[in-house]
Amino acid sequence: MPAGHAEGYEEALTASMKKGGVPTALMQQILRLSEFHTYPAPGVLIGAFMVDYARELLGVTHDMKLFGVCETPKCLPDALQVIARCTTGNSRLKIVPIGKFAITLNIQTESETADAVRVYVDLEKLKKYPTIDTWYANSPAYDKHTMKNLLMDEIFRAGRHLLSSERVRVQVMKKKKWTSVTCPRCGETVPDYLIEGDHCGACGSMKYYKEIG
Ligand SMILES: [Zn+2]
Repeated sequence: MPAGHAEGYEEALTASMKKGGVPTALMQQILRLSEFHTYPAPGVLIGAFMVDYARELLGVTHDMKLFGVCETPKCLPDALQVIARCTTGNSRLKIVPIGKFAITLNIQTESETADAVRVYVDLEKLKKYPTIDTWYANSPAYDKHTMKNLLMDEIFRAGRHLLSSERVRVQVMKKKKWTSVTCPRCGETVPDYLIEGDHCGACGSMKYYKEIG
């Protein structure tokens, strides 16, 4: 959606959520999430239900530290960041770019592995929601100019009914111990485990800018 269309979505969003019977607490979270994402993208809306469902399956109380994995970099990570407070910055969010609309969530543990719940969009259940189904399949039958509101209403009507879950075991993300190393090419420092041979990533494979003076 172009940036100019983003303003003033709250009213339509709230009306659509009320129509779909979204619980008040989740409505508040969806409004915060849409603001964070800058607009109520369908993927973040479905993501809100995914994270909400995963939290319930785990029996999470508000102050628990959670760890999430997101199987796509698109939209869905923001639902984990806002609702589960697993962020890239606090290292409790890992993005594995598999390209599936799925997450895992687990409670903090001292073990090497954690029992997690995986929540995913269930294609069988999706058949009951034709608009979401065409959008999700990236089908040309979905026209965002005319079907956007229909899609939103259907997402809120569906809620978690298009999701399924399974219990899985995941590797726990451990914080790495590190020392600071100075790159001989640029003179800036990086953690030792990020050095590429005798230079930093910016002087090697991760160079993404050119100095322009
Ligand atoms: Zn360097």
